[in-house]
Amino acid sequence: MSLAVAAPARHPLAGRIGLVAAVVVVLGEMVWLVAGLPGAALVSDLGAMAVSSWAAVLCVGAARRHPHTLRRFWSLLAATMVLAALGRAVWTSERLGGIDLPHTPLVGGLFTAGIVTGTAALLCSRAGPRSLIGQARTLLDGVIVGLALIPIGWLLVFRDVADADLADPLRTFGLLYPMFDLMQLTILVAVAGPGRPMWRSLTVIGAGLAIRAGADTVYVSLVAHGSYAPGHPVDVCWPLSYLLVGLATRYPPPACGDGEEDAESPLPPWWRVALPYLPVGGAIVAVMLSRRPTGQTPHLVFVGMMALLGVLALRQGLAANENLRLVGRLRRLAYSDQLTGLPNRLTFIRRLRRALRAGGPVAVVLLDLDGFKQVNDRFGHAAGDRLLTATAERMRDAVGPDGMIARLGGDEFAVLVAGDRPVSPERLAVRLLAALEPLPGEEDLGVHPSASIGIAEYGPQHASHTDLLRDADIAMYAAKAAGKSAYRTCTAELRESAVGRAELIADLRRAVDEGQLLMEFQPIVDLATGTVRSAEALVRWRHPRLGVLTPARFLPLAEETGLILAIDRWVIHEACRAAATWREHAPEVTVAVNIAAAHLCRPDLIATVTGAMGAAGLPPRALTLELTESALIEGSEAVLERLAQLRDLGIRIAIDDFGTGYSSLSYLHRIPATELKIDRSFVSRLDAGDARAYATVEMVNRLAGAFDLAVVAEGVETGAQHAAVTAIGCRQGQGWRYGRPTALSDLLPTLAPVDAAR
Ligand code: C2E
Ligand code: MG
Ligand code: MG
Repeated sequence: MSLAVAAPARHPLAGRIGLVAAVVVVLGEMVWLVAGLPGAALVSDLGAMAVSSWAAVLCVGAARRHPHTLRRFWSLLAATMVLAALGRAVWTSERLGGIDLPHTPLVGGLFTAGIVTGTAALLCSRAGPRSLIGQARTLLDGVIVGLALIPIGWLLVFRDVADADLADPLRTFGLLYPMFDLMQLTILVAVAGPGRPMWRSLTVIGAGLAIRAGADTVYVSLVAHGSYAPGHPVDVCWPLSYLLVGLATRYPPPACGDGEEDAESPLPPWWRVALPYLPVGGAIVAVMLSRRPTGQTPHLVFVGMMALLGVLALRQGLAANENLRLVGRLRRLAYSDQLTGLPNRLTFIRRLRRALRAGGPVAVVLLDLDGFKQVNDRFGHAAGDRLLTATAERMRDAVGPDGMIARLGGDEFAVLVAGDRPVSPERLAVRLLAALEPLPGEEDLGVHPSASIGIAEYGPQHASHTDLLRDADIAMYAAKAAGKSAYRTCTAELRESAVGRAELIADLRRAVDEGQLLMEFQPIVDLATGTVRSAEALVRWRHPRLGVLTPARFLPLAEETGLILAIDRWVIHEACRAAATWREHAPEVTVAVNIAAAHLCRPDLIATVTGAMGAAGLPPRALTLELTESALIEGSEAVLERLAQLRDLGIRIAIDDFGTGYSSLSYLHRIPATELKIDRSFVSRLDAGDARAYATVEMVNRLAGAFDLAVVAEGVETGAQHAAVTAIGCRQGQGWRYGRPTALSDLLPTLAPVDAAR
């Protein structure tokens, strides 16, 4: 792009004098012709020759002064002016030689050459279309308008002319000048119309063209009616149009804008696209109206229409061809990455979805370049781009026919491995890492990135492409964390650790409604006999992607968000129903349900519990509510009152995790509990011979006895622990030694009818 601003004319004074002289000539000629002074024909000829010569000189100057991109434009315009001057000179000499209107071959040839150079000039003006096809299209648009003018002109002008007048082909050709003018005007509007970088010179030239078109039309009309004679006032229009061409050279070329189109450059207005076709409509009407009474279409009109049809077909073909090219380009833009030429994210996802639909094994190998950002920051974006192109090339070669590699964006690439794949995604990852190793001589360039690769394979839990991509992403970050230039395959553990808190909360909201919660029951046994006396209901969450989650994983979230209430309510109902089931053949086995601190504070706790019992047909004495010590300590008088009410109903109250909450004896005294569950942390230390733990458990057991509370030792895992808690005098125990939490169906066979005695 040239930013050169036109140098001022080399001799500003000479230029100004020349202009004034040209204006004077035109004005003088106008006065002369209008006044009808003698010698008008010669004055007209001389005036036209003088002004066109002057304009030719100015165009040559402009061609030398203006940036080289415009040189051809001005040179062609200079040639046009020279041809105009020459044509007029020959015309004059022939006329002086005695021919009235000398449309001789030479004159016709010169004028026609001028039309060709003028049209060519317009087509290569800088604002004009760049490509050859674009130029051809613009030219054809002009030709279409010109040809359409033939029937219209016929109707308006030639109709009354005797056929004999048109028998002379040269003369007919002269009558076609307005058609060429209109053609050029169309081209000019197409290349320099509003919306394109406006070039003042072209506007002025356009004004000149319009004047000439008007003059040519009047001329043709006058000739057709036999009322033209050289020196007619209309003659002044030609020098006037040359004057405007000369004037156009005085404007500097546009300082910027190289005609290159981008997203910002406005689309041409609709009327400019439709411009060439409007006259075609007129031509069709004109053809119908120009039919002779005999029904014949005049020869000229017929030939014109045929030519018009031909050109229209050509133009249409061109447009169709161009459309095809554009569609191709759009497709490339939409489906492939501009920088590397690889398929883009859109294509990748489409192919991935198709592969998933087809069944069969599908794997995604996601690759992220390590240290690419530093390359961009240190060496600039051009270097970054080069690096991306080069690595893309290497990776494409490494993948070969075993998968489809795409650039997902930035420095992220992905390979789709699907179908009857001959290679495992892990092998492919190794190949990719090897391909990115610096070649000999590249090590010291300092711009060699490595890559972190994450692999996700299709498994039953993956329902969609988003899952697969997310898993690959998780694995990729694990690879990065593992020290880069490595690959990892996504596993359930990786996935779980990566699924965010927020996502989990969102999932939890749906969990209750969508029946993702499930119940397990852990037996509480009589330590002396080993029979199951009760079972504690423990909730689990079968997460759609993460699998079964333990309460520790989601209950804290549930408590934070208040979802715990809904969960507890569900658990109470389920537990009561389950207990009612097992009590059909083990009528004395009770159920224990954990109640969250938040639930304890709610007045509707009693209603919930009685409602659940009522629905299941469970008697109150078959239900134990477990409350953690800490929840009880935080509780208010109202909580104690509520517990007392539950107690009065016959429901049993257990203090869970006893020993972890530092409750004072006085407080313990006020809680209407029926049992204590000694926390696992004490029990687990018993078999290590921990004397303090032993003393604590012993003390708690004695304390419980003093308060008339039953005792359950929690978390009994080993025989030693069992022996210790039994020796201490605990009556009941719960722990893996007696049974892990299980589904109701697995619990049922372990239950046997027991007598009510404790
Ligand atoms: P918890 O009430 O103290 O329940 C006993 C926990 O100890 C259970 O863990 C159980 O699986 C585990 N456990 C039992 N025996 C052994 C053993 O021998 N060794 C070891 N290492 N662990 C054993 P879980 O199911 O993970 O529940 C943890 C806590 O979550 C429960 O402690 C309880 O406070 C709470 N929770 C469980 N289900 C519910 C529920 O439905 N509602 C409420 N609000 N809380 C619940
Ligand atoms: Mg419990
Ligand atoms: Mg406990």
